[in-house]
Amino acid sequence: MFRFIDMREDLPRHETKVFQKRKVEHIKGIVVHHTAGGDDINNTARYHVGPNHVSSSGCPALLYTFYITKSGIIYWANDLEEVTWSQGGHGSPVPGTNANNNFLGVVCAGNYSKDNPGPPFVQTFALMTLWAHLVGQLKNSYIAKELYGAIDCPIESMWGHHNFGKPACPGPTLTTLIDTFRSYSQPTIGLNSIIDWQEALNSWGAKVIEDGVWGSNSRSALVDFQKANGKLVVDGIRGPMSEAALLNAIGIG
Ligand SMILES: [Zn+2]
Repeated sequence: MFRFIDMREDLPRHETKVFQKRKVEHIKGIVVHHTAGGDDINNTARYHVGPNHVSSSGCPALLYTFYITKSGIIYWANDLEEVTWSQGGHGSPVPGTNANNNFLGVVCAGNYSKDNPGPPFVQTFALMTLWAHLVGQLKNSYIAKELYGAIDCPIESMWGHHNFGKPACPGPTLTTLIDTFRSYSQPTIGLNSIIDWQEALNSWGAKVIEDGVWGSNSRSALVDFQKANGKLVVDGIRGPMSEAALLNAIGIG
């Protein structure tokens, strides 16, 4: 059953160690993990706080901000400001960012390298719902109000740990899901309407009215561009070669 539980005060924490803090506006996306095993947040938190594979003297707390069970319960484990040691010292797919400082770790309980047929629907649903709520795309009444739109990231900024140099995490099925989700969310680059063409021609230096009507001024602006390009057929037709050249000329292609 879909539920949201704030566990920040109720999980085991290290006696002396604490996570460093960041500003929430520095968060540039979320990174999805799997536990590679258990479905018990207390067990995982105890393991992280005690001597473990990351630190022989224990970590400050559970190494993720959110933990989603197979039955679809979302646990809130750490403040958004806390830099959890989720992604490790690996690289980041987003230039100019740090894997831990600029990303929020979410873990799905389960081993999705082995479990077939992959994460249950309710767990996947909880993950997508949490993400849509966090980025302010879709408000969910179960999830804490203060998390709605709390991070200023585009919808396509959901990643898997595999994108950060850990190929086995979060396992093939979740990996496929996240990669597909991100590619569908990315705006298509291209001139998909007459207005797109008119905007692009104006960005290049033409002066046409952006009204969505392909009249003689728009056509002659395209002819001017084709002539200036030097390699295009000068026919005033909105074809793929002119499209690619125009996008390239205005720095989008
Ligand atoms: Zn991971």
